[in-house]
Amino acid sequence: MNQRIKELRDLLHTYGYEYYVLDKPSVSDQEYDRLMQELQDLEKEHPEDYDANSPTQRVGGKILEGFGKVRHVRQMYSLGNGYNYEDLQSFVKRVDASVGDTDFVLELKIDGLAMSLHYDNGIFVQAVTRGDGVVGEDVTENIRMIGSIPMQIPYKDTLEIRGEIYMPKASFEQVNAKRAKQNEELFANPRNAAAGTIRQLDTNVVYQRKLDGFWYQLAVDVEGVNSQSDSLEFLAHNGFKINPEYRICKNMDEIWSFIETNSEKRATLPYEIDGIVIKVNSLAKQNQLGYTVKTPKWAIAYKFPAEEVVTKLTDITLTV
Ligand code: NAD
Repeated sequence: MNQRIKELRDLLHTYGYEYYVLDKPSVSDQEYDRLMQELQDLEKEHPEDYDANSPTQRVGGKILEGFGKVRHVRQMYSLGNGYNYEDLQSFVKRVDASVGDTDFVLELKIDGLAMSLHYDNGIFVQAVTRGDGVVGEDVTENIRMIGSIPMQIPYKDTLEIRGEIYMPKASFEQVNAKRAKQNEELFANPRNAAAGTIRQLDTNVVYQRKLDGFWYQLAVDVEGVNSQSDSLEFLAHNGFKINPEYRICKNMDEIWSFIETNSEKRATLPYEIDGIVIKVNSLAKQNQLGYTVKTPKWAIAYKFPAEEVVTKLTDITLTV
């Protein structure tokens, strides 16, 4: 077995545990992504070292004790990543080659945690975290504490939707200021704070910390909903908060210009985003494209360059 593969798998298992289970990462996301990419490349070169338990094969997320476990009817996937123009261009080319010329929906990639909401007969009945993608945790009572999530909706058939729970920047600052006063350890960022909060056993704490959510996907078929943009409209119509910054793009020029505009807007938004998600608009084409073990082939996440790195580069430029 290739030694570096073994080393990377051990490291990534540890980092994944710190991040997903303890909500206390010890390395930056960029460092984690870089090591993951190195492992993916090495595993491609060494197919004989395949292991179903490799971090490359897992969505991430572990089930803790303390919350009931729920099996997702449809798996909750992660997203493949792209870091530059070329990565996105090859994604667009791959999609076009397999399903023909396509429209894409671009959405902000909210830096929170994925959540699934269930409604029966128009009533909110259950909320489940992504967990490992197959089985998640029942956090229904905590989700009830989030003011923007509707407890009743006009749509009466069984409904499951997916989206992102996040902590707005303003809540994050308040929570950390309070923790500093009480000499408690600070949360590293709003995402960790949101993940830590949703696993609280005391619903009062959740209520006080002011989480929010954006909803972007239907996990059931709904008549008349044939595209991602239809899904967003359906969600908005049923009283869910959708992110208004989405746009339909027809080609790479439009995709790249949306990314440039929103990279600049990022600092002014009241919530954290860590990239842009590009999705094939037509649901029929999404089905045709299908999934890998952990990601849909009909979407890709463009990840913004690390903020730390940008700061360092500016420092270097300033000192030169
Ligand atoms: P991800 O953050 O790369 O992207 C997938 C997730 O994006 C989805 O599951 C969904 O929750 C979210 N998302 C936000 N907006 C969305 C939208 N509009 N449409 C669809 N999805 C949207 O994947 P992940 O599996 O949640 O996390 C993996 C990432 O976590 C890694 O890339 C790494 O950056 C980080 N991580 C870091 C460490 C560390 O030690 N620092 C460890 C493990 C993972």
